[in-house]
Amino acid sequence: MASEENFMRAPAPSPKRTIYTEAMEIFHRAADLIGLDKRVRLELEEPDYEHIFYVTTKLKDRLVPLAPEEAKAFADLSVTQVRNPDGLERLADGKILLNGRALLGSDVSIRRGHLRLPDGGVYQLVPGESQRFKAYRVQHNQARGPYKGGIRYHREVSLDLFKALAAEMTWKTAISEVPFGGGKGGIQIDPRQYGREELENITLRFMYKLKSLIGPNIDIPAPDVGTNGEIMALMYRQFSDGERERHNLRGIVTGKDVRIGGSEGRAKATGQGVAYCIEDYYADRGESVKGKTFTLQGFGNVGSHGAAILAHMGARLLAVNDADGTIYNGDGIDVAALTAYVSDPKNLKRSVAGFPGAQRIEKKDLWDIQADILFPAALGGEITADVAERLKVKLIAEGANGPTTPEADRVLQKRGIDLIPDIIANAGGVTVSYYEWIQNKRMERWSETEVDQRLEKAMKRNYRIIRDISRNQPRKTEMHDSRAYCIGKTVDPRCAAMILALKRIEAHYLLEGFSQ
Ligand code: NAD
Repeated sequence: MASEENFMRAPAPSPKRTIYTEAMEIFHRAADLIGLDKRVRLELEEPDYEHIFYVTTKLKDRLVPLAPEEAKAFADLSVTQVRNPDGLERLADGKILLNGRALLGSDVSIRRGHLRLPDGGVYQLVPGESQRFKAYRVQHNQARGPYKGGIRYHREVSLDLFKALAAEMTWKTAISEVPFGGGKGGIQIDPRQYGREELENITLRFMYKLKSLIGPNIDIPAPDVGTNGEIMALMYRQFSDGERERHNLRGIVTGKDVRIGGSEGRAKATGQGVAYCIEDYYADRGESVKGKTFTLQGFGNVGSHGAAILAHMGARLLAVNDADGTIYNGDGIDVAALTAYVSDPKNLKRSVAGFPGAQRIEKKDLWDIQADILFPAALGGEITADVAERLKVKLIAEGANGPTTPEADRVLQKRGIDLIPDIIANAGGVTVSYYEWIQNKRMERWSETEVDQRLEKAMKRNYRIIRDISRNQPRKTEMHDSRAYCIGKTVDPRCAAMILALKRIEAHYLLEGFSQ
């Protein structure tokens, strides 16, 4: 007969290191430290459900630009004057999508499937074909409430990545004390290579298949990298289409536009939460954000709002790196001007590259810039051990999910660089998502001031508990109570945040028990 030990232990973990196993290192460390209940540990080690499915759509015809060398063969091809310029949709990859009957009524000169546009370029007309995309939804844990987590549209996604991100949501919802569990999902796609209508069709098809797996009290998606309020609106429409009580279903997604049931303050909430943590970090040291300098990676939702709020608090942005370039200005980058530059419809890549108020530098140079704060707000795994060795900052505030590798963590600790870990730093998004969900349920509408005040309290209260756990300083103040969470010794802040999450999740299992 197998020993009791055999029943209790999970199978020996595979020696293969994956994004998920790396992300779970901190879970295991914290679980060991607090002696997490063995069965709870087994429940949390793997997601409840891992869904993989496929989405197909019919793409539109495209005009694909020829390289100058190839275009020479069409030197005498006359220009096609397009009567309906709205019919042409320029994509970030240089291709042009033909919407509807874009060329109808135009004087078209086509030779062997090629035509010349008024911009002088020669393009090959490529008929649209059907395409298949891989889609995911990982539902990690629901001990504390419905699964909750973003939808990512990005080329580099995988089950392994979504498992890690879904688990992060389980920890984050516990830390921010919102009544949700953790989930994450999305589509393997580079959204910038597709037109508006194509993305609409892909999103509708995605939700059509997702619908049987989720619900406003089961699993609630939100925006993440590559998705936004427009995508959430489509997801809401598709989920509630034809339902008799469709208005009761508004809470199926959060991060919606405020005009259709989104919450005031949600768009900026994640960046706002990072800024509140940074403000509290300095307040604790008797300092202020005013006069501090920071560098930033990622100028999307989190990065652009966070930068604007930090600038408003008096900090100076020195450099920004995004997927398409890096810019630097030692005197400070004008965040409002940069936001206007990035959101200009002519800036097809929505990139900071080419911003006139700064000089271009190489991505690797970002890590060498001397500043008070590094604010990563792009993808995971960017701060490697090598990068951590080079950094000349005093504090890293993790806006992105999982930006620092475990090796880099060890380097940062050795070098005495402080850290505000992602699961508290970027919890502002899911916190205001909860406010949105609750407003939807109650058919209420809160003001931006009310949302901001609640968010500030929630972020600072939980960040203070984490700092107390880290310093082993159990106490009760008017704002927070860390006595139930300190473990009798000091730990690093990332471990402290995980301890808070695990103790809150464990309580549900221990008090409610397990359904059989
Ligand atoms: P976004 O799509 O709005 O912006 C992403 C930014 O990252 C863009 O500026 C893009 O150019 C940049 N980027 C992408 N690949 C890059 C690369 N290889 N190198 C440098 N920059 C790169 O996404 P977002 O919603 O701002 O999310 C950013 C991060 O914050 C992600 O890690 C996300 O999981 C995390 N996050 C987002 C929210 C939210 O509410 N949106 C909440 C919590 C955490």
